[in-house]
Amino acid sequence: MAARTITIKENILGANAEQAEINRKRLDGHHVRMINIMSSPGSGKTSLIMQTIHRFRNKYRIAVIEGDVASSIDADKITQQNIPAIQINTSGGCHLDARMVQTALDGLDLDRIDLIFLENVGNLVCTADFDLGAHKDVVILSVPEGDDKPHKYPVAFIEADAVLVNKIDVLPYFDFNSDTFPEIISGLNPSARLFSLSAKTGEGMERWFSWIEETLS
Ligand code: MG
Ligand code: ZN
Repeated sequence: MAARTITIKENILGANAEQAEINRKRLDGHHVRMINIMSSPGSGKTSLIMQTIHRFRNKYRIAVIEGDVASSIDADKITQQNIPAIQINTSGGCHLDARMVQTALDGLDLDRIDLIFLENVGNLVCTADFDLGAHKDVVILSVPEGDDKPHKYPVAFIEADAVLVNKIDVLPYFDFNSDTFPEIISGLNPSARLFSLSAKTGEGMERWFSWIEETLS
């Protein structure tokens, strides 16, 4: 029985990978870069995206795809900034897949966009299993969640291009060891770029902004 379960999972992921490749080629055809942002609920994905939009909105044409189990709260925040946003509701589903992203891309004018932020469903368990066609995968871990999470949810961290430690403004109040954390990440994923920042206070954000510019150049 176990072997059969594994086969089904491989087939689902295989079909997803094909669709992801189609999404990526489509974006490339329109010279659009897409960045997939993953984290647990409440780690600060939307805040980070909002601050990054604020920094770059006069330089790049930005759009956002919001993945949530329900509601359009996050997409509404983005559209209030006059930035195009498409909300995907997964109706209980715990991750986005490449086909959902294809549908969202249908709703965007890709010839008028340089950069898409894809805010995944708040969940570190399975989101990273599904290639969505993004060019970069980013994982956010916030200080209150604890520095042990990369060991508990390794897949997201192993595959990330960048790992962001957010909410460093509250470091004094939590047992988050920021001295040993870089070793935890380099042990799992030596090529990941690590950023420590606070989307709220702005501390550390310049290095993240530089990485965004590198990604778009
Ligand atoms: Mg959000
Ligand atoms: Zn899932």
